[in-house]
Amino acid sequence: RVVDRPTTLEAPGATSDGHPVALLANVGDPSGAQAAADAGAEGVGLFRTEFCFLGRTSAPSVDEQVAAYRTVLAAFAGKKVVVRTLDAGADKPLPFVTADHEPNPALGVRGLRTAADHPQVLEDQLTAIARAAEAEQAEVWVMAPMVATPDEAERFVAACAAHGLEQAGVMVEVPAAALRSRHVLEHAAFASLGTNDLTQYALAADRELAGVAALSTPWQPAVLDLVDATCRGGAAHGRPVGVCGEAAADPALAPVLVGLGVSSLSMTPRALPDVAAVLAATSLERCRELAALALEQPTADAARAAVRDALPVLEELG
Ligand code: PEP
Ligand code: MG
Repeated sequence: RVVDRPTTLEAPGATSDGHPVALLANVGDPSGAQAAADAGAEGVGLFRTEFCFLGRTSAPSVDEQVAAYRTVLAAFAGKKVVVRTLDAGADKPLPFVTADHEPNPALGVRGLRTAADHPQVLEDQLTAIARAAEAEQAEVWVMAPMVATPDEAERFVAACAAHGLEQAGVMVEVPAAALRSRHVLEHAAFASLGTNDLTQYALAADRELAGVAALSTPWQPAVLDLVDATCRGGAAHGRPVGVCGEAAADPALAPVLVGLGVSSLSMTPRALPDVAAVLAATSLERCRELAALALEQPTADAARAAVRDALPVLEELG
């Protein structure tokens, strides 16, 4: 490392010319929430709630969920916490929610899709989230994983509204939702790009499979096109679009995402200082130029190389 840098965030995220970019944390359980708060995250951009459900034979009660969610909200008092509803299926099977023998689990009944056969699981979870938010007086946003169509978004938002959860959005991690985001975001208050699954589905490359790892990078220009499409759909309705996949933690990719129109980046807490440093050294106009440069490239390698060459600040980060 060339320079000693802070391990925590010292100021809210922004470009060199002061365009704000909220720097948030991905959190998987209460201890992760404390670590994220200690790292100075401005809030939580992805609270994965699966920890409450995994390793059990039946769904947790509403009271158990309220207690678990409250500990996470308490670590971020007065700050935004984006709670994702249960994302069971595919890489996260759950015996009481997902089927055992789907031929293609990543394309199966996962995420929000499980609510069709198990509506009470979603109902209980929304009840628990609303109660925890009320008890902690927290700024809670709720989003559903694996939304593919506008009508799924509409139904989810209506279910949230019935629980008094007004900030209801969707993860955009299915290419169909990215391409049709203008219609999806007519219903949803915000979108959060799940670039891990979005990459998997755009490249038809299993995110768990080493043999296709070379394809599985958010630097793929096709993935950046989908990010671009999502941001355009968001802008059409004035809805914020964030990123909560691994892409947000890549200090070279972060300014590209901002240039495409992303307004918040949520990542593993240890990535926050480097991402903050790159943004602080890059103007919004430069971010837009980097985004255009990346979109022009034919391959992922070319996009990464072109952006890295154009971002000398990366060398200071070592
Ligand atoms: C994603 O798909 O990018 C994401 C953030 O969700 P998960 O990794 O939990 O599927
Ligand atoms: Mg995902």
